[in-house]
Amino acid sequence: MPGTSHLHSYALSLGSNRPLSADRPPARLLREVTDRLAEIGRTRCASPLFTTPPLGPSRRLFTNGALLLETALPPEELLRELQKIERIMGRRRFRRWGARTMDIDIILWSGGRWESPRLSIPHRAFRTRGFVLKPLLGIVPKWRDPRSGLTVRHLHGRLMKARTKDAARG
Ligand code: ADP
Ligand code: MG
Repeated sequence: MPGTSHLHSYALSLGSNRPLSADRPPARLLREVTDRLAEIGRTRCASPLFTTPPLGPSRRLFTNGALLLETALPPEELLRELQKIERIMGRRRFRRWGARTMDIDIILWSGGRWESPRLSIPHRAFRTRGFVLKPLLGIVPKWRDPRSGLTVRHLHGRLMKARTKDAARG
């Protein structure tokens, strides 16, 4: 399509487990992020929001979602913009795995792989994280992980199967 070849597509994962204020709970913050992302590109599909138990010591439930962003920004520039949005959303690190108002990760990219000290695409841990794969499944089920060659649907199915086996083992 003429005029669109410079566009990049990114599958982004969003997560929050801490309100910014009483009237800005995680689900609302995720919607605000989606609006801000629409200023730097085109948000093509947004998943429903899911509530998931936290990984690690924090007791607060996470609200997670994913969306597809089309933008002219190359990976490192997009990361900078995402980190700006995280800061605007009041992101502070309390401790690793702790409460956070907003986490925005780049999971997959139409350009395939990116590897630099600041940024790895595909995201290093996404293949084993249900809270990332489940929202992604609803929007980009056929996208392939360039490392394993598996689609999002396949990765999600594999993770669910592994969990069922773990549960059966008790
Ligand atoms: P995490 O998301 O792993 O819980 P942070 O959001 O604090 O932790 O990110 C830590 C660093 O991870 C960021 O400073 C960023 O440079 C780096 N990073 C590497 N790959 C990615 C990616 N695919 N998406 C977002 N950040 C990434
Ligand atoms: Mg992050």
